[in-house]
Amino acid sequence: MSLVAVIGAGQMGTGIAQVAAQAGCTVQLLDTQPGVALAGKSKLEASVRRSIEKGKIKEHEGAALLERIVVTDLDHIEREVDVAIEAIPESFELKRELFVILDERLAGRSILASNTSSVSITALAAATYRPDRVVGMHFMNPVPAMELVEVIRGLPTSDSTFRHVFELARRLGKQPVEVRESPGFLVNRILIPMLNEAIFALEGGLASAADIDLAMKLGTHQPMGPLALADLIGLDTVLSICETLHVELGDDKYRPAPLLRRYVAAGWHGRKAGRGFFAY
Ligand code: NAD
Repeated sequence: MSLVAVIGAGQMGTGIAQVAAQAGCTVQLLDTQPGVALAGKSKLEASVRRSIEKGKIKEHEGAALLERIVVTDLDHIEREVDVAIEAIPESFELKRELFVILDERLAGRSILASNTSSVSITALAAATYRPDRVVGMHFMNPVPAMELVEVIRGLPTSDSTFRHVFELARRLGKQPVEVRESPGFLVNRILIPMLNEAIFALEGGLASAADIDLAMKLGTHQPMGPLALADLIGLDTVLSICETLHVELGDDKYRPAPLLRRYVAAGWHGRKAGRGFFAY
């Protein structure tokens, strides 16, 4: 089974580490914030314990799964990883810096995958000496529950890199879909303008946050309303994707709602911060 590194142990990275370990991969999990990767692993331990108690998995299987997740740091990352999956915040500069470091530290054959929602895979590839081995692997949130992975080729991504990651997504129990590189790829190109429009509707006083979500749930058969979904994704991430769509596509229909900017400036980043359009 593959040796996978997951860099960034936030909401997405922890979920990716979980599904990779469940599929039998050995996982190196790392984060720059002290204690975050260990906290992510502790949360996973609690969820494994619940699965054992419910009889979903056997005790020794749970123990083996947890043993496969090794918390480490960039200075001690295993050189021979098959695929490194980056899940750090949605900022091109942060991701570019990380890709330069991974390019130096990992074996030449290692694939560098980004879970980015909107950053250009081609631009990340260009920051490395292995552009053919850079690819987008866009999981959905929450990772253990959501089936889709968008696999995105940058211009220089080789066929073998693409196939390797497509197959890895399948082995993780996901349904991969090939998406041509374009800002926001496919899902966010369609989803983010809807979430942004819901924020404009709130800002314009069309209805309360609760009623906007209730109306969209009942009116369009969505499992959760757009404002709750924005809170789940993280409002900092939603703003960043919106800005990328706006800048890259040059169309004002993607301009972020001013209210979204104010929430992000206030640090009300949604569920992970305990407060967004709703309180958690
Ligand atoms: P998050 O804020 O929950 O987690 C990011 C983590 O990365 C933090 O723990 C932070 O300490 C860590 N980090 C920052 N810089 C780092 C570095 N240089 N090296 C290692 N760790 C570092 O964010 P998230 O919601 O998990 O999103 C991560 C990525 O996944 C983003 O690119 C986002 O666009 C993408 N994504 C998010 C969602 C979503 O719904 N939240 C869905 C799909 C993809």
